[in-house]
Amino acid sequence: MHEVSIADSLLKIAVDECKKNGCRIILNVKVCIGKASGVMPEALLFAFDALKAETIAEGATLTIEEVPVAGHCSACNADFTAPESYVLCCPQCGSSAYTLHEGRELDIKELEVE
Ligand SMILES: [Zn+2]
Repeated sequence: MHEVSIADSLLKIAVDECKKNGCRIILNVKVCIGKASGVMPEALLFAFDALKAETIAEGATLTIEEVPVAGHCSACNADFTAPESYVLCCPQCGSSAYTLHEGRELDIKELEVE
């Protein structure tokens, strides 16, 4: 499962950051997940909960913020956000000359440690 390896690397980053700051317990990990990243939030939560046992993140919660897909169309010069997890053409003019600049991210946004 894709989400297990993602949860694993998120956990490693969080643990490293926590230790780097001289902290011992991770309370909350907040991540931003783009809707176009292909990550299922429920599956990621499940994987995180399974992997955090016996780590310093044992009592941590994972908060997921979903980022909508956003892009810019060079045909009509419009910026757009898409309600779906994918974009097939510019919602304004139907052109395929668009670039997505948001929606693929998968980052730790905030880390609450103690
Ligand atoms: Zn357009």
